[in-house]
Amino acid sequence: MIRIKCPFCGERDHSEFTYGGDGSIKYPELDASIKEWVQAIFFRENICGMQVETWHHSSGCRMWLKVERDTLTHEIKSVEAAHDGLAKLLRRKQ
Ligand SMILES: [Zn+2]
Repeated sequence: MIRIKCPFCGERDHSEFTYGGDGSIKYPELDASIKEWVQAIFFRENICGMQVETWHHSSGCRMWLKVERDTLTHEIKSVEAAHDGLAKLLRRKQ
């Protein structure tokens, strides 16, 4: 079982969240070629170890989170708001 500490709601079971995928993907500009879009959307690395992921707290505050998780052990190293402005605001309040 994975427990994710939502910065807005506190620690919750992962069943409250929806996995959003690799959080390190940089999407191309809107006018990029089909080939660039296909590469960004369908070709992903299968990382064995620590990776940055996005998770949506779909049964909670409905915020998107950036989660640093080890894919081997499921250890979670950090969780913050995926939106940079909110993440900075929360860091200042801590
Ligand atoms: Zn939440």
